[in-house]
Amino acid sequence: MERIHVTVRARPLSPEDAKSSPWRIVGNSIVIPNHSSKFEFDRIFDQDCKTLEVYEARTRDIVAAAVRGFNGTVFAYGQTNSGKTHTMRGSLTEPGVIPRAVHDLFDIIQGEVDREFLLRMSYMEIYNEDINDLLAPDHRKLQIHESLERGIYVAGLREEIVASPQQVLNLMDFGECISLVCCWLYISQLSANSYIRSSALLLIKQIIESRDKTEDDNNDNSCDAVRVSVLNLVDLAGSERAAKTGAEGVRLKEGSHINKSLMTLGTVIKKLSEGAESQGGHVPYRDSKLTRILQPALGGNANTAIICNITLAQIHADETKSSLQFASRAL
Ligand code: ADP
Ligand code: MG
Repeated sequence: MERIHVTVRARPLSPEDAKSSPWRIVGNSIVIPNHSSKFEFDRIFDQDCKTLEVYEARTRDIVAAAVRGFNGTVFAYGQTNSGKTHTMRGSLTEPGVIPRAVHDLFDIIQGEVDREFLLRMSYMEIYNEDINDLLAPDHRKLQIHESLERGIYVAGLREEIVASPQQVLNLMDFGECISLVCCWLYISQLSANSYIRSSALLLIKQIIESRDKTEDDNNDNSCDAVRVSVLNLVDLAGSERAAKTGAEGVRLKEGSHINKSLMTLGTVIKKLSEGAESQGGHVPYRDSKLTRILQPALGGNANTAIICNITLAQIHADETKSSLQFASRAL
């Protein structure tokens, strides 16, 4: 399985928008006819595709690999309203990538009769380069630490032991309630008039630890006796540029932080896909909190899936082009 898998998902358009759309999807390419813009990907999902197909394209394999001990990251990238949350979270009628991954994770583990598993979950939000723990009612801001023993970690981040898919999904709902409450507080404090929640980067982390049941407890010779891996599921903030949205004050600061995170993410993915890490080159993980936290599950032998959500309407052509450029860099 290739390490970085990039797909594009175009959201449904109104009939008028569909008629005036400059874009055409031709196989695995997306083009503007009679124009130099042409982008090719591992897979393109048009508006008739369901989230299940998007999930099966790669995330299912990443989940299975995570159970075998390989770190993995799946994230949705794209401008606001392009369908990131629809893809990752989904709805009751069409479950997203996250609930599907969580269900599969527990199913796969159940089939592994020779190993014993412990699953822990964290849920955090990165907003203006502050890390908020969405499972902690006091919603404190956290710092990233690094140690020989633990590697890179967010100090004090809650890790809840989870024993069923429903427990994970309930914790997500709980976390989102907290996040909404905090946002309302924030909105009332600053009387900002915009929907701040869509600008946070939401990150769910599943830590999968397993132990070989057949292994003698006193025998720690086998390096495969205990495996620990991380699966990150990320709903990124809207990628539209602050300048274009005419943001000022709080929104501008917010926009520049988001751009910094997303730009760094783009650079990191580009470097990784060029093989910089294995050749001893510099990968700028440290330039944003997001990439710092994701480092263990992006580099090394981790698997990554990028789902680039786009809107093919004429009015969003510039944003769509910049999203496609981001996703192309990752190939
Ligand atoms: P984002 O998270 O990127 O801001 P959302 O996922 O919230 O965007 O999508 C915006 C709106 O469009 C939502 O009402 C969502 O239900 C709808 N939508 C997005 N993608 C699809 C899709 N593939 N099929 C049906 N509805 C969609
Ligand atoms: Mg969203």
